[in-house]
Amino acid sequence: MDSFNPDDVAIRSGHYIGGEYVEAGGRRIEVARPSDGVVYATVPLADAGMVDRAVENAWQAFRHSGWARMAPRERAKILRRFAELVEADAPTLGRLEALGSTRPIAQAIGWDVPFTAEGIRFYAEFADKLGGDVAATDHDHLGMTIAEPYGVIGAIAPWNFPLVMASWKIAPALAAGNAVVLKPSEMTPFSVLRLAELAVQAGVPAGIFNVIQGDGRVTGDELVRHPKISKVTFTGSTRTGASIMAACANSGTRPVTLELGGKSPQIVFADAPRLDDVARRIAGAITGNAGQVCVAGSRLLVERSLAEPLAERIGKIFAELKPGATWAAGTTLSPIISAPQAARIEGIVGRTLEAGATLRYGGVRADVGSNGAFYTPTLLTNVTAHSEAVREEIFGPVLTLQTFDTEEEALALAQHPEYGLAAGVHTADLGRALRFVRGLEAGTVWVNRYGRTSDFMIPTGGYKRSGIGKDLGRQAYEANLRFKSVLIDLRP
Ligand code: NAD
Repeated sequence: MDSFNPDDVAIRSGHYIGGEYVEAGGRRIEVARPSDGVVYATVPLADAGMVDRAVENAWQAFRHSGWARMAPRERAKILRRFAELVEADAPTLGRLEALGSTRPIAQAIGWDVPFTAEGIRFYAEFADKLGGDVAATDHDHLGMTIAEPYGVIGAIAPWNFPLVMASWKIAPALAAGNAVVLKPSEMTPFSVLRLAELAVQAGVPAGIFNVIQGDGRVTGDELVRHPKISKVTFTGSTRTGASIMAACANSGTRPVTLELGGKSPQIVFADAPRLDDVARRIAGAITGNAGQVCVAGSRLLVERSLAEPLAERIGKIFAELKPGATWAAGTTLSPIISAPQAARIEGIVGRTLEAGATLRYGGVRADVGSNGAFYTPTLLTNVTAHSEAVREEIFGPVLTLQTFDTEEEALALAQHPEYGLAAGVHTADLGRALRFVRGLEAGTVWVNRYGRTSDFMIPTGGYKRSGIGKDLGRQAYEANLRFKSVLIDLRP
């Protein structure tokens, strides 16, 4: 994929409601490019009135457009067409994604856009294949559960993978026959607008997939409290997830799916095969998207004898990465999303060092000659379970290294007091791998790999304060349906 000129990308701003762009007066939010800090556009902030307009539109479309009632095969066909349009639109979607987010263009086009399309295609397949159930009753009765869409789903997405995270919300919701009102992060508002346009082009009725712009405090809060939102699905930080859950409870109890933060361990035993590969996996899991990944493998736990050779190899891989603008073809280290987030990373690293940790690699900003914030991949050693960098989700390319001598010690270190999103175990011993699969308090465990594939049947979601419910898999489809129980008396 070639580099592109960021000033050449056409931006269409606004909300997307009822199949049309809607501009509005009132407050606007400035949107900056993470790569150089330049403010390149603004978006309107949806107030209570605009949120109501979007939800009401979605509600009317849910009731009257025919989407919920159409033959599921027809819905599947439209969604497959939607996936094809997304794929074909890769040059535009990929540039929009790269311009405004932390995703380098080669990855946006090579991974984010195809992953988004595949997710939509995956859920299209569910539309006509999963329904309700017939219960085992006596012969005088017929008992059934009928699967029905909720109505209007309120979806809120983060900035770290704007298209992919949004697709994990909208694809199962649409396949199940719901309407959606999506609020992207105010930092990455544009690529999902294009996604909504493509949905309508593919034949999703106007009003079934809407996008509203705005911040969390006003727009997000109004959305989750709106009386016609039947279910909320959210991806973002644990703190915001808790306040959304409270808002949902206080505004008329409605179900929530929450995909939240993590502080995931990577456990390496001395028998792990191919140390060079292990080092690549470990480094990749903390430098991908500059560590701004919910499942970033941010805590390295390594058997003592392996600590030094592994640290050295990781350092070499860190040094190969090339920070740069997301529109430059050769960039392999993403910018940090914003200046305040970069300052937060520096703060945590600084305080952890003051408390006695050792800086093995990185720990400084990388200068790429722009106002973007770039942080060098960092390895901290001499840390404990109480170190701030070990406890807190940093959301940056910062890896901590702790050593262990026994399996029991490794497992105890791996458990985080709050988070339980993902974990990686690297060992040649099958029994040990399975003992960790059983013992780890994490929603996902990877063995001798780190990171997901396109096998979307495998769901993702957190234990403990990393979340409630799942994205992906059959589980996310079913979470977009409610089940009606029916019992019929057949006696004459
Ligand atoms: P965030 O919680 O700050 O914001 C996420 C979204 O919520 C944004 O759209 C924001 O505008 C909105 N929001 C903020 N306050 C709100 C409120 N009170 N009511 C309604 N909406 C509100 O998170 P972020 O910084 O955008 O994303 C990073 C976080 O997301 C990290 O903690 C990361 O681990 C998490 N994340 C989790 C997963 C997962 O699958 N578990 C995936 C990606 C990111």
